[in-house]
Amino acid sequence: GPRVRGIAAGGHGKVDAALIDRLPNLEIVSNFGVGYDTVDAAYCGKRKVLVTNTPDVLTEEVADTALGLILMTVRELGAAERWVRDGLWVEKGNYPLTRTSLRGSSVGIVALGRIGKAIARRLEAFGCPVSYHNRSRAADVDYPYYPNLVEMARAVDILVSVAPGGASTRHLINADVLEALGPKGILINIGRGSVVDEVALVAALQADTIWAAGLDVFEIEPCWPKELMAHPRSVLLPHVGSASVHTRDLICGGSPWLLTRSKTKMPAA
Ligand code: NAP
Repeated sequence: GPRVRGIAAGGHGKVDAALIDRLPNLEIVSNFGVGYDTVDAAYCGKRKVLVTNTPDVLTEEVADTALGLILMTVRELGAAERWVRDGLWVEKGNYPLTRTSLRGSSVGIVALGRIGKAIARRLEAFGCPVSYHNRSRAADVDYPYYPNLVEMARAVDILVSVAPGGASTRHLINADVLEALGPKGILINIGRGSVVDEVALVAALQADTIWAAGLDVFEIEPCWPKELMAHPRSVLLPHVGSASVHTRDLICGGSPWLLTRSKTKMPAA
C-alpha cells in the first residue's frame, strides 16, 4: 500500500474510500476513459489526490464503434457471420432476411455530448433522422430535442445511449422507456452499463417488448446476465468502444514515442 503513488483506472473497478485509505501516499487516480464515475472523486479531493480523465481523444473511435454496434444489431451481422463459420450456409441455405434495417429508421440519442454528436454526424450520412434527449437543449445543433425520454423513445426506432454513469443517470433507461420504444424498437448502449436497468432489459427482450439490444457496456463488468447471452437478438461487446492501439496511444498523450512504437511494434494478438 504505502509504495503506491498512482492508480491507472480503466473504469472496470471501483476506486473508493476503502481502497484510497489503504494507499497513504497516493497522488493521482488517472482514468483512461471519459468520466470518473467509478472513482470517489469527492474523497480524493479531501485527501488531495488528483483525479484525471481523457475526454475528446476517444470521441471518434467510440462513435465508429457505436455505428458498428448499431449495424451489427440492426442487420444481425454477428449472427450472419456465425452462420458462415458454423457451416449453416451450406447446410441450411441463405441467412434469413433481417426484420430490421437502418433504411427508414429514426434514431434517438440519449446524451448528445461529444460522442453523441459524433454518432449523430455519422447517422446523418446514413440518412437517418436524429433526435436527442439531454437535461438541457444543446446550443450548437438543430436536431429535435426531447426533454422527456419516454416521449423520445416512443417517437424513434432506435435508441442509442451514450449517457455517462453516476447517480443522476442510474437506470435512466427503465421499463417505461423500453415499453415506449416498442416491439420493433432497438436499444444500443455504448455509454455506461449503470444507465440501463438490466433486469428490465432482460424482461423486455424476453417478452418481445423491444426487438433487440446491442451493448458495449454492462452494469457489472466484466460480467453480464446469462439471459442476455442466451437471447438470439442481443449483441454483446466487451467494452471496446475506444479500444484500439491508435486511440489508446492518443489517450497516453500521443507522444511521438508511443505513436512510433504502435506503428513499428504491434502488441501480440
Ligand atoms: P460529454 O461530452 O460530457 O456528454 C455527456 C452528455 O450527457 C451531455 O450532453 C449531457 O447533457 C448528458 N447528460 C448528463 N447527464 C444526463 C442526464 N442525467 N440525463 C440526460 N443527459 C445527461 O461526454 P462524452 O465525451 O460524450 O462521453 C459520454 C460518456 O460515454 C462518458 O461519460 C462515458 O461514460 C461513455 N464512454 C464510453 C466508452 C466505451 O468504451 N463504451 C468510451 C468513452 C466514453 P446535459 O448536461 O444537458 O444533460
